[in-house]
Amino acid sequence: MGGKVGVLALQGDVREHVQALAELGAHAVEVRVPEDLTAVDALVLPGGESTTIAKLLDFSGLFEPVAERLDAGMPALGTCAGMILLASEVLDGRPDQRSFRAIELTVRRNAFGRQVDSFEADLRIAGMAGGAYPAVFIRAPYVERVGDDVEVLAEVDGHPVLCRSGPIMVASFHPELAGDLRLHQLFMEGV
Ligand code: GLN
Repeated sequence: MGGKVGVLALQGDVREHVQALAELGAHAVEVRVPEDLTAVDALVLPGGESTTIAKLLDFSGLFEPVAERLDAGMPALGTCAGMILLASEVLDGRPDQRSFRAIELTVRRNAFGRQVDSFEADLRIAGMAGGAYPAVFIRAPYVERVGDDVEVLAEVDGHPVLCRSGPIMVASFHPELAGDLRLHQLFMEGV
């Protein structure tokens, strides 16, 4: 766990992720421009608004360099909007919304939000010791389809909400708001 972890700092829950990583003893840095990316070994894509973050990725010149690093196997954790940005297919997005296609799954934006805007759920997470994980969902996406090589680590009402494929981990919820570092820890074990 000696690597430098970047947090994509264009919009959203950046500070909370940096804090959680720092509490775990990781060296966390904010990534705003392409030069920042060259210094990191892994990247966290935070929750926020995926349409806005996608636009800012283009404006900042970060989209292509991040895509290249992901192609080259950089570990990444995408939470909520970050999950949408890493997915291979996005439903209910804007027609021009780009994503990195770093993990083979289909997400639907604001999927739980049709019934309720935000909620908490005690999740059972595969491979996580220490009991239920308090997951916070805010206008969250859920996963409608996963590719063959995607592991589903947790579900809510039969919908995958935490998935992993190789170095890529995605969560529908906000581990940076949970007050529980176990999800960041699980990700950091692969860095
Ligand atoms: N609904 C947001 C989106 O589509 C995600 C919400 C969040 O990150 N809390 O980007």
